[in-house]
Amino acid sequence: MSENPLKPVFVTLERISNSIRTQFRAVHLSLTNEKPPVSLSPSNPSSTSSTHSQPNDIFKDKSAQPVTKEELGRATWTFLHTLAAQYPERPSRQQKKDVKELMAILSRIYPCKECADHFKEVLRTNPVQAGSQAELSQWLCHLHNVVNRSLGKPKFPCERVDARWGKLDCELRLCDLQGTSDSEDRLP
Ligand SMILES: Cc1cc2nc3c(=O)[nH]c(=O)nc-3n(C[C@H](O)[C@H](O)[C@H](O)COP(=O)(O)OP(=O)(O)OC[C@H]3O[C@@H](n4cnc5c(N)ncnc54)[C@H](O)[C@@H]3O)c2cc1C
Repeated sequence: MSENPLKPVFVTLERISNSIRTQFRAVHLSLTNEKPPVSLSPSNPSSTSSTHSQPNDIFKDKSAQPVTKEELGRATWTFLHTLAAQYPERPSRQQKKDVKELMAILSRIYPCKECADHFKEVLRTNPVQAGSQAELSQWLCHLHNVVNRSLGKPKFPCERVDARWGKLDCELRLCDLQGTSDSEDRLP
C-alpha cells in the first residue's frame, strides 16, 4: 500500500508539538520553582511520571477546563510562529509543499468556524510565501497582522518578529525540521 502523502506533515507537527510542550514545561517549572524529574526530554519516560496530577485532581486543575477561542488562537499562533522560526533558510521542495498544505488544512479544520472561514479568505488574498525562513516569518507576521486588524488589535512590527519568536533552544539540533540536512534535496 502506498504511504499516506500527509505523513511527513504529521511527523513534523508531532515533533514541533513535542518541542513546544517541552518549552512550556520548562517555563512552568521555572515559574513554580519545581525541579524537573530527570530530564525535560519528552522521550524520557521518567519525565512524564512524578509531577503529573493524580487522576482525581484533573477536574480541579484549571488547565483541564475547555479552552477559549482566545487561548486556542494564542496557542496556534505560537505553533505557527515557532514553526516559521525553525523553518530552514533553504527549504526542500517537500518542506515548502508541507507548509502550504498545512495552512490549507488549517483553514479547513481549525476548530473555530468563524476563524477558519476568515483564515481561508485571508489566505486567498495572501498566498503562502515559504521560499526561506525569513520569507515565511515575514509572510506569517503580515498574515497575523491582517487577523489583528480585523479584530481591532494593534499591528505587530514585523521587523521584530525574530526577537519575539526565536528558534527553539534545543540541544544537538533535535528541534530541526524533518528533512533539514545538507544531504537533503534542495530544489528551488
Ligand atoms: C488562523 C487564525 C485565525 C483566527 N481568526 C480569528 C477570528 O476570525 N476571530 C477571532 O475572534 N479570533 C480569531 N483568532 C484568534 C486571534 O487571532 C487571537 O489569537 C486571540 O484573539 C488572542 O489574541 P491575543 O491578543 O492574546 O494575541 P494573539 O493574536 O493570539 O498573538 C499572540 C502573541 O503573538 C504576538 N504577535 C501578535 N501579532 C503578531 C504578528 N503579526 N506577528 C508575530 N507575532 C505577533 C504577540 O506577542 C501576541 O501576544 C484566530 C487565530 C488564528 C490562529
